[in-house]
Amino acid sequence: MKEVRIHPTAIVESGVVIGPGSSVWDNVHVRHSTVIGDECIIGEKTYIAYGVSIGSRVKINAMVYICNAVTIEDGVMISAGTIFTNDRFPRATTPDLKQLRGSDPDEHTLPTLVKEGATIGAGCTVGNDLTIGRFAMVGMGALVTRSVPDFHLAIGSPARSVGVVCRCGQLIHRFSGDQAASLALRCECGLGYQINGEEVSELCAPGMELKVSA
Ligand SMILES: [Zn+2]
Repeated sequence: MKEVRIHPTAIVESGVVIGPGSSVWDNVHVRHSTVIGDECIIGEKTYIAYGVSIGSRVKINAMVYICNAVTIEDGVMISAGTIFTNDRFPRATTPDLKQLRGSDPDEHTLPTLVKEGATIGAGCTVGNDLTIGRFAMVGMGALVTRSVPDFHLAIGSPARSVGVVCRCGQLIHRFSGDQAASLALRCECGLGYQINGEEVSELCAPGMELKVSA
């Protein structure tokens, strides 16, 4: 079984599970009860809160902030300096300023799900109560305030979908104002997709014969 590598300056609290082949680099802090899958890379100075779920073969670059209520599926890439959020009404104290609000999850703590294969560019801020879809790509510096559908490329502040990306990462279609109702496309890498309005589905999985007739 592959070893787990944890840099001596990293803080890994009790109850954390880290799968074989994963590396946790310097000054990372992983809080209690978080689960990290196999063959992940957690870049230096990243903070991962308690109770976070991270799949396998996930790449998290340096200085990423992942809060409670975030779920990250397999094969996701999160680039440097990205920040997740989970509090709908963030306040330090009670309304009379007399008491600090607890940091434990409450009814205002909202989840964020990053589905398999998705990429989040450098320096993004990701809101809560939303999903970033399978193999979606979020451009650098984006402010994500609503869900991003599967295979969409979303850019800007606030982030908006501008096109469709392949599993391999290439842009294969740009959305225009008058979006065609239905379209079948093949990426240079050979994978095929069916686009119906905003919905993108795969015509074949990697390794299978393509069924696009065009
Ligand atoms: Zn491709």
